[in-house]
This record gives sequence, C-alpha cells and structure tokens, in this order.
Amino acid sequence: MSGLLDLVREDLRDFTGYKSARSESLQGGVWLNANESAWANPADAKATSRRYPDPQPAALRSALAGLYGCEESQLLIGRGSDEAIDLLVRALCNPGRDAVIVTPPVFGMYAVCARLQDAPVIEVPLRDGADGFVADLDAVAAMAVESNAKLVFLCSPSNPAGSAIPLAEIERLAERIEGKALLVVDEAYGEFSDLPSATTLQARQPNIAVLRTLSKAHALAAARIGVVIADAALIEVLRRCQAPYPVPTPCAELALAGLSPEALAETEKRVALIRSERARLQAALAGLPEVRHVYPSQGNYVLARFRDAESAFRSLLAAGVVVRDQRAAPQLGDALRITVGSPEQNDRVISALRRIEAAA
Ligand code: PMP
Repeated sequence: MSGLLDLVREDLRDFTGYKSARSESLQGGVWLNANESAWANPADAKATSRRYPDPQPAALRSALAGLYGCEESQLLIGRGSDEAIDLLVRALCNPGRDAVIVTPPVFGMYAVCARLQDAPVIEVPLRDGADGFVADLDAVAAMAVESNAKLVFLCSPSNPAGSAIPLAEIERLAERIEGKALLVVDEAYGEFSDLPSATTLQARQPNIAVLRTLSKAHALAAARIGVVIADAALIEVLRRCQAPYPVPTPCAELALAGLSPEALAETEKRVALIRSERARLQAALAGLPEVRHVYPSQGNYVLARFRDAESAFRSLLAAGVVVRDQRAAPQLGDALRITVGSPEQNDRVISALRRIEAAA
C-alpha cells in the first residue's frame, strides 16, 4: 500500500525507532542482555514482571484480532486508544504544516494531540438537527481536499453527541479523501451501537483506520488497552514510533482474562442491559419539564439539554451523582452528559432531577 504510506511523514518512513532488547530474535535460557534483575520482586508472586514485556504481547494481540475480526498484522495495541490517537498524529503530521480535521462537539484528545504536535486543527462542526447531531461529511470532504489535512477524525458513536455514522457515508468520505488524508473512525463506544464496525470497509478502503478500546464496554479502563486497526504497513510504521514496552504485563494478563469466553458472555449481557437502561433513562429525562431536549444515543451515555443546566448539575451533585458538564463545549451551552449506569444509579439520577421539579 505505497499510496497509504505516502501519508506518513517523509522523515519517518524509514525510521527504525528504538531497538529494544525484546525485539531481537535471539534464543537462550539465560537472559543477560537488558540489565534486568536476576530475581523477581518479593511482591511479584507469579514472577511475571521481572523482565521487560513483549512489546505487543502475542496472546493478547491474537485475542484482540479475533475480537475485532482483523488480521494480527493490522492491529497495534497501545495504552488506551488515547495513545493510538497520539501515534497517528505524530506519525502523519509534520509540525506546523499538516492539519487534523475534527467535528466538534467531540472527544477532546484529537485536538490535544494535534496541539502537542503543532498540527493545525480544522473544525467542521456537527450539525444539530431533527436526527440529533450529525457530521457534515460533505463539508469534511471539501475541507480535507482543500486544506493540508493528513488526518480526519470521526467519532462514531460520537462522544458526547451520541450519533453514529452509517458505513456507506464513511466509505464515501474515505473514497473522496483517498491519497490525501487518513480517515480515523473512533469506535470507543462501538459495542453499544446498532451499526457495524468500519473495519468491514478496510479491505476496500485502506485509508480507514479504526480505534477500539477495552475501556468502555469491557470495563477495563484502568488496564489502558486500546488498539488501532489499519493497513499492516501503516501499523508497522506506528509500532516503530511507539514507546519500547507499551503494554505492562499485569495489564496484558488482565485484558486477556477479560476476553475469555465467560468474561465476553458477561460483557455482552451488560451491554444489553446498558442499552435498555439507556432507553429507560432517555424516556424518563424526556418526561421532565426541566429537560429541554434529549439526544438519541448509540453510546453508553445520554446528552440532554436543560432549562437550567447549572441547577440540574448542582442537584445531581447534591444527590452524590457526578455527571459531565458539557457547557463549555461548542453548541452545548445548556447540556449535560450522563453516563448510563446500573439500574439503581440511573434511578438515582432520575429521582434527583425529579426533586428539582418538586422544589420549583
Ligand atoms: N475515544 C473516545 C471517543 C473516548 O470517549 C475515549 C475516552 N473517554 C477514548 C477514545 C479514549 O479511551 P481509552 O484511551 O481509554 O481507550
């Protein structure tokens, strides 16, 4: 896929990165090549952490490839999808020149990573209409073609807006920006969505990269395991730009256990519960006079507009419930984002908001 590698910074195309002790294919029973300790730490009961880890733990990589239905060569494990976002921006954007397109209101890390790389950020706002917030993909395509953009970030389901983008539209955008920019589809909340993953488009459109994470539906946010799924040659470039040992062994072990058939079956049940609780929470919110608008959501959260978002936020806090205040985000001056919790937690949200009505 030489066309795709043309999107990588020229100075990094043949960059070999750090050659760690673990990356050499040497054989032996006594490993004295990495200045590790000869003994495990007394607290390391299973003695799994004495030596540096495999940079891409093989068993986890294989389990993740199975989970997401891709080849192992198409997948890079990072410290959350946050790291994947950072790697993509660093590997593709020349500082001060190559831009990143984002669709606000949206997850903030795309712009943060761009800023750290001194890559200009171009905003193509979501449009608020009858179907909720929708990405203006014609405007995104036009902007990608006429600007120095190297990366387009789409969030689907979108955080915090809640909407997901139909695959046909993603494919069409990828076609329109081919040779110009990489289309990154962030599917952090993909498990909660009705729509299939954009990985199913990658065979036809290699300029699509997909981000997935174990932080949300799989309940492993603290393990910091996320992936980027993309063309194998691009994955190889990203791997060379990554820190030498990005996946700590205790995290890899926990993640692998979290992908066992039993754990996956439980995750699936919980996703189903969150989806039904999402509908219940949306219906309850929509029935409150205090709530001006409830957005459709394909994620594990609900975005709502309030007549007085400050007092709603305060009332929830007084009831011990912390939600995300979105009022500083563009177009969301009166909005809060509420993560869908357990049925009991959602009841608490609903009754705290009902109390405002009663007090008013
Ligand atoms: N993408 C989106 C849309 C998110 O909301 C988040 C976390 N809030 C992330 C990526 C990062 O997730 P992680 O680094 O935990 O994989």
